[in-house]
Amino acid sequence: MKQTTENRQDKINRIVIVGGGTAGWMTAATLIKVLGKNYCDIRLIESDQIGTVSVGEATIPQIKLFNQILGIDENDFIKKTQGSFKLGIEFIDWHKKGSSYVHPFGDYGTTMNAIQFHHYWLKGQQQGKVPDLEGYSLAAVAARQGKFMRPQNMGNSPLSQINYAFHFDATLYADYLRDFAVERGVNRTEGKVTDVSLRSSDGFIDSVLLETGERVEGDLFVDCTGFKALLIEGAMKTGFVDWSDVLPCDTAVAMPCKAKDTEVLYPYTQAKAQKAGWIWRIPLQHRVGNGYVYPSKFVSDEEAVKTLTEQMEGEPIGEPNFLRWKTGIRKKGWNKNCVAIGLSAGFVEPLESTGLHLIQSSIAKLMSLFPHQGFDQVDIDAYNSQSRNELEYIRDFIVLHYKATDRDDSEFWRYCKEMKVSKRLQAKMDVYQANGRIFRQDNELFTEVSWLAVMHGQGIIPNGYHPLVDVLSEEELARRLAHIHSVIQKSAETMPMQKDFIAQYCKALHST
Ligand SMILES: Cc1cc2nc3c(=O)[nH]c(=O)nc-3n(C[C@H](O)[C@H](O)[C@H](O)COP(=O)(O)OP(=O)(O)OC[C@H]3O[C@@H](n4cnc5c(N)ncnc54)[C@H](O)[C@@H]3O)c2cc1C
Repeated sequence: MKQTTENRQDKINRIVIVGGGTAGWMTAATLIKVLGKNYCDIRLIESDQIGTVSVGEATIPQIKLFNQILGIDENDFIKKTQGSFKLGIEFIDWHKKGSSYVHPFGDYGTTMNAIQFHHYWLKGQQQGKVPDLEGYSLAAVAARQGKFMRPQNMGNSPLSQINYAFHFDATLYADYLRDFAVERGVNRTEGKVTDVSLRSSDGFIDSVLLETGERVEGDLFVDCTGFKALLIEGAMKTGFVDWSDVLPCDTAVAMPCKAKDTEVLYPYTQAKAQKAGWIWRIPLQHRVGNGYVYPSKFVSDEEAVKTLTEQMEGEPIGEPNFLRWKTGIRKKGWNKNCVAIGLSAGFVEPLESTGLHLIQSSIAKLMSLFPHQGFDQVDIDAYNSQSRNELEYIRDFIVLHYKATDRDDSEFWRYCKEMKVSKRLQAKMDVYQANGRIFRQDNELFTEVSWLAVMHGQGIIPNGYHPLVDVLSEEELARRLAHIHSVIQKSAETMPMQKDFIAQYCKALHST
């Protein structure tokens, strides 16, 4: 149906979300919270027969904003999802075998005279006088000690700037959001979509057909069908941009295990590099999430399961869950009246836990560009260019972990070292290498602190530092660095162990 000037401002009356994984339920929960139940009909179709990926258990701090928008009580949410807190990610064996660094959520030291802290540290380090950079990050120091607390109202103490995210059970999280959305008025339909019908006049989606024979019509369709991308690709043939040349891992096997009975529950995700790919470890209250992300070109499924089970700390729970993908992005995340959110929109591997954030960010963009029946192409174009830009920056950040490495002990790592990366990433690495300078561009997701953590952790050593650091005398520089280091260590000392913090505020009601 061609829109006329009379009806182009007409409101959307029926939103149909296909897919009830994390993406579907995050979208449904936000829509019902923001639009309320009287604005339009919101329907979600999911199929138990097909199931969800059941991974996606580590997050980044932006998820707190999502919880705030929904008005979620954080302690209640952690209890119900067997959650734990996350202060960063530890990368083991990435720079070289035997190496370890934490990418923390939160600053290193403090900016002085408008110059980023790490320039002062670089000078100190070049003179061989200071401990490693990690000792200046409260998040990293506390993480290594198994400590956690929420930020305190304590002026300019580092304790007032604690930044954190969560680990949780992905299935319980989707259930939690489903209860939230359904209670508030989202209509849930259990059923398998077997066909998608397009309007002959303009190619917009008109309806989806369920296995039961029911036809569900809508004005706006949200494709949350995961890697299947049933609407955006299956029906609309939108096209895909393949990035597997720079991110060759295309498979994962996930297998949770029982947790070791220890006193310490570490508040960080672990990513341990392997001969090819890497293994994640995500500590929850009731179990540990594990998975091996690998390139199928270099590692067989049998080898992957063997490597993963050998490195697991406890008895496996359930069967291996294999996930396969093509790395890259849909050419248009929003095409006509169909918006793809979640894995259907594209995927870069989970090394920096960005999947759920991208869902959140797609929902935020959809809300700010929310359509009327007219579906203005300029709005759709804005959505698509913002999405593309956002994922390209994230891709580059993840590629950095593979590109900047001293490892050459396998064909995989030799490929990564030699691969050609985007001009933008190469420029970032070159500028840092020269004088330690880092710039955040275009409101990209990862800040200067994140880029610093990974470039430093991966072993890039700048040739120089910011010249204005020399404004401070050497004695003054040494005094300030020592003071900051001691404030960080003392702050960490005052923090409780994460296990005690959880026991006090948000212990899960059941152990499984
Ligand atoms: C190996 C791996 C590890 C990850 N780790 C993280 C992480 O640590 N942190 C993070 O933030 N993100 C992570 N992600 C990403 C995260 O898991 C996903 O972004 C998130 O789970 C959203 O998935 P989804 O809802 O798009 O897809 P899915 O979970 O696959 O859900 C698809 C839904 O569509 C339904 N469906 C499909 N076809 C039909 C049909 N024909 N009819 C009806 N319904 C249908 C299914 O039943 C299901 O409900 C990871 C991803 C992978 C692959």
